[in-house]
Amino acid sequence: MESWNVFTRTSRIAYFSMEIGLAQDIPTYSGGLGVLAGDTIKSAADLNVPLVAITLASRKGYFAQSLDEEGVQHEAPVEGDISARMKPLPVRITVPIEGRAVSVAAWLYRNQSPAGGEVPVLFLDTALEENTEEDQTITDRLYGGEQRYRLKQEVVLGIGGVRILQALGFRIFQYHMNEGHAALLTIELLNQTRNVHAGSWMNTLDVDRKAVGKRCVFTTHTPVSAGHDRFEYTLVQEVLGDEVVPMEQLRQLGGDAELNMTTLALQLSRFVNGVAKKHGEVSREMFPGYEIHAITNGIHPLTWASAYMVSLFNRHISGWALQPELLVRVDNISDEEVWEAHQGAKAYLAQYIKEVTGQQLFLDVFTIGFARRVAAYKRNDLIFHDLERLLALGRGRLQLVFAGKAHPHDNDGKSLIQNIYTAAERLHGEITVIYLPNYSIDVAKHLIPGVDVWLNTPTRPLEASGTSGMKAALNGVPNFSVLDGWWIEGHIENITGWSIGEETSPDTSPEESNAADAEDMYKKLEDKILPLYYEDRAGWVRVMKNAIGKNAYYFNTHVMMRRYVTEAYLQR
Ligand SMILES: *Cc1c(COP(=O)(O)O)cnc(C)c1O
Repeated sequence: MESWNVFTRTSRIAYFSMEIGLAQDIPTYSGGLGVLAGDTIKSAADLNVPLVAITLASRKGYFAQSLDEEGVQHEAPVEGDISARMKPLPVRITVPIEGRAVSVAAWLYRNQSPAGGEVPVLFLDTALEENTEEDQTITDRLYGGEQRYRLKQEVVLGIGGVRILQALGFRIFQYHMNEGHAALLTIELLNQTRNVHAGSWMNTLDVDRKAVGKRCVFTTHTPVSAGHDRFEYTLVQEVLGDEVVPMEQLRQLGGDAELNMTTLALQLSRFVNGVAKKHGEVSREMFPGYEIHAITNGIHPLTWASAYMVSLFNRHISGWALQPELLVRVDNISDEEVWEAHQGAKAYLAQYIKEVTGQQLFLDVFTIGFARRVAAYKRNDLIFHDLERLLALGRGRLQLVFAGKAHPHDNDGKSLIQNIYTAAERLHGEITVIYLPNYSIDVAKHLIPGVDVWLNTPTRPLEASGTSGMKAALNGVPNFSVLDGWWIEGHIENITGWSIGEETSPDTSPEESNAADAEDMYKKLEDKILPLYYEDRAGWVRVMKNAIGKNAYYFNTHVMMRRYVTEAYLQR
């Protein structure tokens, strides 16, 4: 059994997230939300911010992706052994699920910073003998199963998380909900506040709400209302019952028609934020009447700089990893060294590609990278909109590397992967197209630093923030992206990278905007980006350095964490 008492002496911020991506061999994440949570924890440890993180054990992970020759996605569970990286804690609590008292245990992972700080991460687990066979699987599959399964997971995370922290003796002064999945923690806090007041629900709800709200911070990540977690009250009644909060009061807090986790979190949080300036605006329109701030996401610098960049920065910008603002001094490094570090990362990627797909990536050919979840709004295949046009500008002087999973239920997403395969076949011998399977932290670490430009083509304004572009910038890889999410704040045309397309009026059809954005992408590649890359090395390296000195110095989780501390956690 592990000793955790070292962590309970200081009062802490409890950071709740359905997924946390800390490392390749802890597969409890699916994508951006989880990797952001992992990077947040790492920066908190670096900066000695007293945080404790809570998530689910997700023993079977999200899923492992394999792709057949036609680009059809196949899914398999990820079987990991969580005991390899974590220690069990001697604690059990129960949560009410379908009238049963379901037992929940926790594993402890200690995230240690090279600077000495440490953040404990608790992984909640229901795979315990005393639970029914079905209940043992509640913490198996991340985002797997139907509504009922998801609600059970959220009961374990939100209500179980609060209870287990208390059972372990943690003193929590702020609860931070990273997205709405953990919003049920608010009703557990409400329940406990009411017990203290010993009042009836009717009389004290307003007072209790305020008391709970003072302790809660909520970060929303989803710019479309369909993306927010919602549950029918009949289901909520069946799964959760009245034990924690009577249905009538829950309706007052979580929405009348159905339980909306975002509404619940909004109503019970003193501080609410979106994850980029634009996303803050979009969220304020979506939820009128709430004060919604914006704290732009970031990435953890030491995690995402390639070994080549780490060595370069260590030589020239001492202290950069703990104080990434120092990257503003990148101009002290010679062009040759920046270029060589990048070519090192490109050769490392080429080696990796050879091993995984058997294809050859040429080090002297301009390479575009694109990796993110495959979903219709991300338009992962937009660059293939007009293959003739792409061939005319890129024949023999363009390579493309893709990666990304589609959610198992997202058939549109899955067919986008096939579109990319079809295009690859048609371009064969003229433009190399590579698709790296099973996008993960490891794939991202190889891919992002090794390409020459990082492409992003979301439908505006659906990219809340996006963080892979920040990883690219840190590695001297400029962004070429639709102005959405963080890029609105990071973009300076021709200086830090390039934009794609223009904001269109709401009555433009999707087909028209796709065509317009694709055309702008081709034009910029042809007129600006390819000539700069092939004909003006000094000009190209200038943009690479600006990506580091004007983007990466700011868009990181150290800056982000300091903002959460001063603007959210410590505000009264
Ligand atoms: C950084 C990262 C993401 C998020 O990138 P976006 O640009 O937000 O799509 C997703 N998955 C992995 C594995 C990552 O490393």
